[in-house]
Amino acid sequence: MRHVPALPSGKTTLAPLTTQANTPQHPERTLGSYDANTNTLNLYWDEYHLLLPDQRAGELRALMWHEMGHWLYHHAKAHPRLENWKKAIHAHWYQRVQGQPIRTHKQGWRYILDGWLNEYAGRLYPTWEGGVEIPSVYFEEVSRGPENIAYWCLEEHQKETFGIVTSIFGQL
Ligand SMILES: [Zn+2]
Repeated sequence: MRHVPALPSGKTTLAPLTTQANTPQHPERTLGSYDANTNTLNLYWDEYHLLLPDQRAGELRALMWHEMGHWLYHHAKAHPRLENWKKAIHAHWYQRVQGQPIRTHKQGWRYILDGWLNEYAGRLYPTWEGGVEIPSVYFEEVSRGPENIAYWCLEEHQKETFGIVTSIFGQL
């Protein structure tokens, strides 16, 4: 395991992430959600139990990585490296989606699809700028293992996005 030096004290303000389980079911029937206001990861236990037992560990891991993406993205002001990472994702998003139509998913949410891994990666929110789901959806794929990343990176289009999103894993 690589030794990661501690950040000098006072250089970061990344607030700890709180996790909470057994919350009432989410209206979109998702396994989890991240609340940026309270910095809380919510796990919807009922949804978890609907998964097949051999899917649970993988889905829970993917959820943690997904919500960790939101946590870092929403707290990018905590560290200059996070800020630069967020700016790079933001610039990438705008470069890709320029001129693309806004579509409506059958579940009612809006998105812009420009070769992202899935529709959810291009999801738009009324109060947030576009691209919020990019780090989370790509982190989620990272959690599914190296073969998965290798598969997606056969496509230059995906490789570029993975490169930008995972650049935050570089040397601290
Ligand atoms: Zn998300």
